[in-house]
Amino acid sequence: NFPTEVVPQAPEDPLFGLMRAYKADQSPDKIDLGIGAYRDDNAKPWVLPVVKKADEILRNNPELDHEYAPIAGIPSFTSKAAELMLGADSPALLEKRATSIQTISGTGAVHLGALFLAKFYKGNRKVYVSNPTWVNHHQIFNNVGLPTESYPYFDKNTKGLDFEGMKAAIRGAPEHSIILMHACAHNPTGVDPTLEQWKELAEIIRERKHFPFFDSAYQGFASGNLAQDASAVRYFIEQGFELLIAQSFAKNFGLYGERAGCFHAITSPGEEATTTITRLASQLAILQRSEISNPPLYGARIVSTVLNDPALFAEWEENLSTMSGRIISMRKALRGKLEELGTPGTWNHITDQIGMFSFTGLTEQQVQRLRDETHIYMTKNGRISMAGLNIHNVDRFANAVHHVVS
Ligand code: PMP
Repeated sequence: NFPTEVVPQAPEDPLFGLMRAYKADQSPDKIDLGIGAYRDDNAKPWVLPVVKKADEILRNNPELDHEYAPIAGIPSFTSKAAELMLGADSPALLEKRATSIQTISGTGAVHLGALFLAKFYKGNRKVYVSNPTWVNHHQIFNNVGLPTESYPYFDKNTKGLDFEGMKAAIRGAPEHSIILMHACAHNPTGVDPTLEQWKELAEIIRERKHFPFFDSAYQGFASGNLAQDASAVRYFIEQGFELLIAQSFAKNFGLYGERAGCFHAITSPGEEATTTITRLASQLAILQRSEISNPPLYGARIVSTVLNDPALFAEWEENLSTMSGRIISMRKALRGKLEELGTPGTWNHITDQIGMFSFTGLTEQQVQRLRDETHIYMTKNGRISMAGLNIHNVDRFANAVHHVVS
C-alpha cells in the first residue's frame, strides 16, 4: 500500500536535525543558537521560580485528580488566558463576543484555527503569511487544505521591516483573504511593525475585507511588558475586527513540553455577536473532540494558578523581565563586541530586533563555516536564538562571526 512513489522518505525537520548534530558534537566549547528556548547564563534551561511555586501548590492540593478536563479546557485557565491576551477591560470580553478553547500549546491553537477556517471560511481560501515566517505555518495550513502565500516582510538591506512591500502585497491580495500575523517578537526575524504601522495595516485589512489571524507565541518576551506585547491584537479588536488568535504559554512560562495554549475567536460588535460566538464555540468544541477530545491538565493548571493569584502574577512579571532583560543585554553585548572588532557590515539590527531571535544576515555558507570550524550551531537562514548567548560565550561567538565575515 505504501511504495516510495506514494510515501516518499520525508526530509528530517531542519531544526530538530540541527539539535541532533549539536548533541552529537563533543566539543566543550560548542554553542547552541538553534532552538527557540530560553537558557540562563550557564546555557541551561530555566524553570521559572514562579512555576516552581505553582508546582508546589498543585502538588500539595489533595483535591486535584486526573479526571478529564472539559472539552474546551479548564475554565479558570481559558478565562485568564483571554484576559491576558485581550486585556481584562477588552470590549470583546465585556460584550461577550469572544470564545476561548484550550489547545496543545501554540501549535495546537494555530492548527485548530486552520481546521476551523478550512471547514467554514467562505472567503479567499488562501492564507497570507510573512516571508519568512515560522516554517511550521506552511505545513499547518497546507495540511488542512489551505494553501499559503507569502507577503514581503524582511528587508535584507536594512535588516528591518519591508513595510512598503508588506502593505502592497496585503493590498494586492484578493478581497477576503486570510492574513496571518505574528502578534509580537516575529519568528524568525525579530522585526515587528510599530504601533503606527499596525494601524496602517489594520486600515488596509479593513478596506480589503481581509480576515486577520494573530499568532502570539512570545507575549512578554518582546518588550518584557505583557500589555505592550499584546497591543497589536488589542488595537485590531478595538477597531471591531472579527479575528482569530493562537496563544502559546511555552516561552513566557518556560512550559515548552507541557503544551499549554489557547485559541480565541472574536466576533465584531453588533446585535448578533453573542449568538455568533456561541455558534462558533459549539463548532470549535466538535473539532476539538475529534482532534484531542480533552486538552492536557498539567501546564494549564500551572498557568491558571499563576494568572489567578495577584502575588504570583507579579512574580511572573518579574521572571519575564529577567528573561527579556538578559536577552536584551546579550543583544547589546554582541553588537558592542562586533563593533569593537570592526567586523565588516552594520550591526545595529542586533539591538533593533526584539524577542527571542535575531536575523543576523549571515549567509548560509558563513553559517556552515561557523558550525564546521567553531562548533556554533544556528539555522542556515542565519537566525540565532539570542537566549543561547550568555556572558561566558558571547565574546567567543562575536569573534567567530568576525572570523567568518572578514
Ligand atoms: N508560533 C510561532 C511563531 C512560534 O515561534 C512558535 C514556537 N516556535 C509557535 C507558534 C508554537 O510553539 P508551541 O507549540 O511550542 O507553543
